[in-house]
Amino acid sequence: MKCWVCGRTPEEVRDAVGKPVPVETEVDRSMAKVVSMKANFAKMSGDWAVGVPEQFKSMDFRFVMKNADQFRSIAFIGDVESAGKSYVDGLGEAATRARKGEEAGIGELTVDPKDAKRREILLKGVEEFEKRSGRMMGIQNGGKRGSAPDRPMPAGFEGLRLGEGIRYLRDAGMLYYSIQQSLLEAAKVEEASKKPAFGVGATRLGGFSKAVPLCTVCENLIREL
Ligand SMILES: [Zn+2]
Repeated sequence: MKCWVCGRTPEEVRDAVGKPVPVETEVDRSMAKVVSMKANFAKMSGDWAVGVPEQFKSMDFRFVMKNADQFRSIAFIGDVESAGKSYVDGLGEAATRARKGEEAGIGELTVDPKDAKRREILLKGVEEFEKRSGRMMGIQNGGKRGSAPDRPMPAGFEGLRLGEGIRYLRDAGMLYYSIQQSLLEAAKVEEASKKPAFGVGATRLGGFSKAVPLCTVCENLIREL
């Protein structure tokens, strides 16, 4: 089918229009932010892993966090504590809310319980991580799901030494950002599918008795008349 006005085929129309100029959207800005926060966290947590004093490495992670004020010789202890809350507790809580059919927040993003695709991204990400690490995320989930009742999985940092806890926290933090990246990628796909595709289609214009083949460009042009 050729356009009645410009005589182009759909392929020629798409060539003429060229690739759409990429417009930076809200999603792109969020993605750039998440990618940069992820890179910062990767660097920071890498510094923790090498910076934790040897003599403290085998202490209980939760004990050290509970007494973080006392362990002032570890300069970054406060950062570790708040990262644990954001990433491990935060992801655990988000997953619990999503499972209950409630709205879940992760970073600046929210997962609507009616949005099956995003809900799956969040839950699958958390569940696969729990399987890999052999521990439940969050404080309140310990042993309640997914594991044999006689052999409940530890929750969060339960039973981890400081060195191990920092490694676990690093993985959880990377997951926290990876899930956000996947959520934003899903938003990108949705955004792209909403854009009108350029082509040629039968169009009925005002003042014409029957539909004529028109390309998207000419149609928009004539509608502006
Ligand atoms: Zn045309």
